[in-house]
Amino acid sequence: MDPLRLTGRIDGGNPQDESAICQTADRNFLIKPYSEDGDAGYKFRLDVDVENPEGCEADLSLIIDWGEAQYNQYRDVVYLGTGGDDWQPFEGRIEDSRVLLDLKVPAGKSHLTLNPSYNYSRYMELIGRLDEGAPFSKSLLHTTDRGRKVYLLRAGGERRTSKRILVTGRTHPYESAGSYAVEGIVEGMVDGLYREQLKDSDVWILPMMCPDGVADGMCRLNGPGAPDLSREIDSGNPLCQAYMDLINEIKPTFFLEFHNWMLRNNDGIFYLSWWPMMATIWRLRRRIPETRRKPMIRGLDRWIMKRRAAGLKGYAAEHHSARCMTVEYPWYGRNVADIKGLGMQTLLAVVPIA
Ligand SMILES: [Zn+2]
Repeated sequence: MDPLRLTGRIDGGNPQDESAICQTADRNFLIKPYSEDGDAGYKFRLDVDVENPEGCEADLSLIIDWGEAQYNQYRDVVYLGTGGDDWQPFEGRIEDSRVLLDLKVPAGKSHLTLNPSYNYSRYMELIGRLDEGAPFSKSLLHTTDRGRKVYLLRAGGERRTSKRILVTGRTHPYESAGSYAVEGIVEGMVDGLYREQLKDSDVWILPMMCPDGVADGMCRLNGPGAPDLSREIDSGNPLCQAYMDLINEIKPTFFLEFHNWMLRNNDGIFYLSWWPMMATIWRLRRRIPETRRKPMIRGLDRWIMKRRAAGLKGYAAEHHSARCMTVEYPWYGRNVADIKGLGMQTLLAVVPIA
């Protein structure tokens, strides 16, 4: 009986340190996921490859030690994928700081993850698939000091208009649903399905805000010590500065940031004031089938006061009066097609207030 092998030393892997995955028996492993800043409220990343050299399905027992118990109620479902967009959820049981799982892994290679994976290579494939002018132009905005590329996609409205929408994903690297939402938008626009509804809008898309953070398995930041781009501005950070320069160049009227929180039974919407928020929720309700959406938590401070946007959104609001919106779409109970659909429908729902 050949032993199973697990490794996080992959694009998007976590933990990448080999000593954080410990084989305790042929089919038993102890995994200690990594967080770059120790923030338990963002420690939601686990991404490992599983290799099963047997020619048939094998049992795998896992102890995932998250180091603290506080948020384990959001960490007891993991997904197993074998390539493509099929992710099967498995539910474990919580024991204090640890989550215990018994599952069956198929022969060959599979992938185990807390949120369905979307790594740097997949993003580069998406960029590679886009031919110039169809309908995007793409440009290289920035190369990180680790050599990862930040691409900007631009789709122009057919008329020159005042709606300039900036769409971003993966500001927080663990939040893979943001990538699928953005991919849904890109594919929808390539298919030309919504040309009429978007004809008065210029749309810029940054599919992967933190490419190092995604590739290197970070949770919240592009790397240890980097700013949280949804909360902070740091002009001494070259990546952050590149985004500030872009915002000053395109002067967005609307900034749409896709996030993926771990709350299971609610979606979230933030940073709009009361009426635009309610109108957007109403439009989303018309666009998204009831079985595909969750009750919205509205991010408002003290009844109807909108919460102040910070980080790059705050910068765009302050310098260019951009209206800002963050949406939180969790994976729980959803598949890739659901998340892609949410991405496209969310963009369409904000066009009237952009
Ligand atoms: Zn987030």
